[in-house]
Amino acid sequence: MSVVGFDVGNDTFTVAVARQRGIDVILNDESKRETPSVISFAEKQRSVGAASLTNPKNSVSQIKRLLGRKFSDPQLQTDLQTLPFKVTEGPDGLPLVHVSYLGEERRFTPTQLFAMVLSNMKGLAEKNFKGAVVDCCIGIPVYFTDLQRRAVLDAATIAGLRPLRLFHETTATALAYGIYKTDLSETDPTNVAFVDIGHASMQVCIVAFKKGQLKILSHSYDTSLGGRDFDEVLFRHFASKFKSEYKIDVLQNARASTRLRTACEKLKKMLSANSEAPMGIECLMDDKDVKGFMKRDEFEKLSAPILDRILDPLKNAVAEAGLTQERIHSVEVVGSGSRIPAIIKILTTFFGREPRRTMNASECVARGCALQCAILSPTFRVRDFQIQESFPFSINLTCKEIVPDAENSGTESEQCLILFPKGNVIPSTKVVTLSKSGTFTLDAVYAEGSTKLCTYTIGPFQTSNGERAKVHVSVCLNLHGVVSIDSAILLEEVAEVPVSAEQDTTADMDTDEVPNKSNELDCDTSMPESSDDHSSSSSPCSENGAPISEKKLTETDKVTEVNKTTIPVSELVHGGMTSENLQKAMEQELEMALQDRIVEETKEKKNAVEAYIYDMRNKLSDKYLEFVVDKEREDIVAKLQETEDWLYEEGEDETKGVYISKLDELKKGGDPIEERHREWSERGTTIQLLYHCI
Ligand code: ATP
Ligand code: MG
Repeated sequence: MSVVGFDVGNDTFTVAVARQRGIDVILNDESKRETPSVISFAEKQRSVGAASLTNPKNSVSQIKRLLGRKFSDPQLQTDLQTLPFKVTEGPDGLPLVHVSYLGEERRFTPTQLFAMVLSNMKGLAEKNFKGAVVDCCIGIPVYFTDLQRRAVLDAATIAGLRPLRLFHETTATALAYGIYKTDLSETDPTNVAFVDIGHASMQVCIVAFKKGQLKILSHSYDTSLGGRDFDEVLFRHFASKFKSEYKIDVLQNARASTRLRTACEKLKKMLSANSEAPMGIECLMDDKDVKGFMKRDEFEKLSAPILDRILDPLKNAVAEAGLTQERIHSVEVVGSGSRIPAIIKILTTFFGREPRRTMNASECVARGCALQCAILSPTFRVRDFQIQESFPFSINLTCKEIVPDAENSGTESEQCLILFPKGNVIPSTKVVTLSKSGTFTLDAVYAEGSTKLCTYTIGPFQTSNGERAKVHVSVCLNLHGVVSIDSAILLEEVAEVPVSAEQDTTADMDTDEVPNKSNELDCDTSMPESSDDHSSSSSPCSENGAPISEKKLTETDKVTEVNKTTIPVSELVHGGMTSENLQKAMEQELEMALQDRIVEETKEKKNAVEAYIYDMRNKLSDKYLEFVVDKEREDIVAKLQETEDWLYEEGEDETKGVYISKLDELKKGGDPIEERHREWSERGTTIQLLYHCI
């Protein structure tokens, strides 16, 4: 069974596989370890891995930035300003990317586009494994919201993958670092800060390592600070310079903008190794060649507003870990965006020590994901290593109901409970106890920004006597960092029976179903004696860890029998993909994959005709020389020439079937000669050509 780790970066992606001897990074078709995260759409097919410079509007990049975000999201709107392709708002408020594909305008959701990248990565892994790849672990930024995480899971489903875990990128890096460490103490933690500066964002994570385990102490991030922001500084600078010097406005021309951005990224990289660097682009716009120059000092001055923002995530991470810089044993920097020397200077000053690059900066996330996949996979044996992950957002649970009041008109009552506070371990399950008599709804909400994630309808159900009874709702923050309700159980007290010696009176309802990570929270929403405290919809959140026992000992040594009934739960994900749309997207992906395969096979067949022409022509004047008479050779050579001319003219863009029959036609002339040669080789004697020809 496959054990695979995927790092889908905004700039490039990497695939790693676990084998018994260790982790390998898979090479792409060009024998490279990293592949640009770009999809180019064309007349006949899609291709992943290379942008089309001639048609930038049809090359979709930075898909991770668009994923699981509303079109109206201000950050998305800012991102769109620098992207060359067209994006509009879909009927569900999510973005839709427009491209020209198969000769018509097509619109794809970011989830579908992400699925295309994942599908390509799956294909690379399958080629390598020579078998199907389904189980995997996918790296995601720690700041991904519930909606973004669900979008990754949906994309994986579309691509035919089953993620065993969505793994925070920095935790993946920490795992790839810690699992091989042999000098970790069993008692004293080694605290390491991991700083990842990628193409679009920056993530910091502080980890306490002990022998055989890692514990995430804190996560922090800037969702919009990465290498591309430095490219943009240079782009703006040169766009305005060229406007005044050459009277060209690249901002008005998508192709020129893309070319200038590419040149600026190259310049930025050169400035990491040199104190000054030139830039030159031929025919950038209006047939004008442009030239520019930049010194590292000037670049740093221009980038000062971005560089200044690096400190905040560092400070937050250290403070939230409850540490000071002195208590951090080492600083590991990853992500290629961190190669800018000014960034390293800031990290060095802040931590009071030079950051290290022990990790392979562009592969550590994929490697960590492959390791995590191996740990989770039942088919793999990995040395025991515990990962205590922490979740970066607080999740509240709110319960609304209409409570009858003195005038019998009803007041809306809302109770709010901090279910998973920031820093909660994942995975985690908590059991909430409510007092209800019929169907009710619960909302899972991110505390910050009060973003509603899901609404759960618990019901239908009715208590046997129409009175309120306890309902245990088991809420899970799963391995992916996604909230779900595992079960809702109605508990009704039915009778009192004497205690017998065998009865376990301390048994807890949920210990069977919920592992020992579970906590129980009491959120009693029955009408209180005084409704004043609860009638306001802005009642403050409370946290309560009181455990509930299913069976209670009574004074007369009797236990109360409890009937348990499972209540149905339905989930509405706000902004999520409906199951019909998911199904449709899966079908579309299959159709497109089939189309790509047909195009690939057609190319192969065309190449086979071309290769046959060259090969046969060479052999006729060399290896087969003595096995063919002049007339026969002349005929075949003429046929080869005719087919070659056809191949480069009217036969350039034919169907797979046409190329197959062209090859068959050529082989009719060539096969007898090959056969004579084969027979001769087998007999080991010279066969006189004349015997064959008479
Ligand atoms: P993300 O983590 O944001 O999803 P990613 O993982 O694809 O993106 P990386 O591959 O870590 O990102 O980093 C890509 C960024 O690093 C690009 O902006 C690229 O220009 C920048 N970069 C690569 N090499 C250098 C260099 N030598 N100097 C400066 N920047 C560099
Ligand atoms: Mg990255």
